Amino acid sequence: MLRLPEFTYHRPQTAAEAVAIASEHGSSAMYVAGGTDLYPNMKRRHQVPKHVVSLQDIPGLDKVEVHESGGVRIGALTKLSAMERHPYLRQHFGALVHAVREISTPLLRNMGTIGGNLLLDTRCTYYNQTHEWRESIDFCLKKDGAICWVAPGSPRCWAVQSSDTVPVVCAMEADVELVGKDGTRRIKAKDLYRDDGIQYLTKNPEELLTRLYLPPPGAWKASYLKLRRRDTFDFPILGVAVCLWFDAGGVITHANVRLGGAGSYAIPATESEKLLVGNKLTDELIAAAGAAAMKPARTMDNTDQDVYWRKKVAPVFVARALMACR
Ligand SMILES: Cc1cc2nc3c(=O)[nH]c(=O)nc-3n(C[C@H](O)[C@H](O)[C@H](O)COP(=O)(O)OP(=O)(O)OC[C@H]3O[C@@H](n4cnc5c(N)ncnc54)[C@H](O)[C@@H]3O)c2cc1C
Ligand code: SF4
Repeated sequence: MLRLPEFTYHRPQTAAEAVAIASEHGSSAMYVAGGTDLYPNMKRRHQVPKHVVSLQDIPGLDKVEVHESGGVRIGALTKLSAMERHPYLRQHFGALVHAVREISTPLLRNMGTIGGNLLLDTRCTYYNQTHEWRESIDFCLKKDGAICWVAPGSPRCWAVQSSDTVPVVCAMEADVELVGKDGTRRIKAKDLYRDDGIQYLTKNPEELLTRLYLPPPGAWKASYLKLRRRDTFDFPILGVAVCLWFDAGGVITHANVRLGGAGSYAIPATESEKLLVGNKLTDELIAAAGAAAMKPARTMDNTDQDVYWRKKVAPVFVARALMACR
């Protein structure tokens, strides 16, 4: 049986108090929301914080609030299952609700929060193993080791962005709110992530994610399509999110295509996006934009299924995700 390492458990009552505790303890502190990612990681010694700062007593961060503009403010502590059931989200933000429903299992979605999902650790076949397993290969760059087993000549880690909601919020151009020791800031969700398997977030470690802001429904359509071995539950080995903005004549004025599960961040398929803008979503355009997504699908041999097959299947998934926006 895997056991948790020893740690001090903090239960702050406000966001400011949580940030103060995290700032005081620096790199030896981590926040915990639902704990469905952090605690398994601690049991496998991926993360060994001496101070665990629970967010569960902080009031007001577990709400879905619809603004008069039609936009939505979602507290970071909102359970995934609450989002799944929310009538307004279901009616107007189908792609995001679909992504949420694809996360793990109903039991875990009752514990897991949207904030924890947006900040999910990156994953890799050589990393998501027990401490003993990792010790047997002398660990790797991401934790305790000196080499990347996926790309031994590489100075960086290629662990994979594996959250289902991240590609969707990036494609939708949602915002996130962060509270740190220097105050509160609101940034584009896409700017929260960086292309690095270890330092995969741009935020400061003590910054608390407090809210997700969704844009008002309008002349845009979004979709999400997930590839995984088992449809019951599995992390994405490809997660395609598409968001398209249309003019009154059905011409695409702006397009975002993001590939999750294919690199250390949700990779923008920029060539596909360029092909889409200025055109109507015809069968021919869908096929061309899908094909253009093959190159950015930077699959490596560090998740489930064959690496070449995953790359070849990316255009098919992009085309299907585009079709769902018609
Ligand atoms: C068996 C299994 C299957 C899973 N399958 C999937 C899947 O298919 N897709 C998927 O996307 N996920 C999956 N997950 C991962 C996880 O359950 C979800 O991502 C969940 O949403 C994480 O939320 P949480 O609140 O439990 O996060 P936690 O474990 O509490 O936290 C996750 C990380 O975020 C940090 N954190 C949490 N909240 C905040 C905050 N508000 N501000 C700053 N830092 C914060 C924590 O310090 C930690 O680093 C799976 C997990 C398990 C165990
Ligand atoms: S990509 Fe390389 S460094 Fe990163 S977790 Fe995997 S083996 Fe380790």
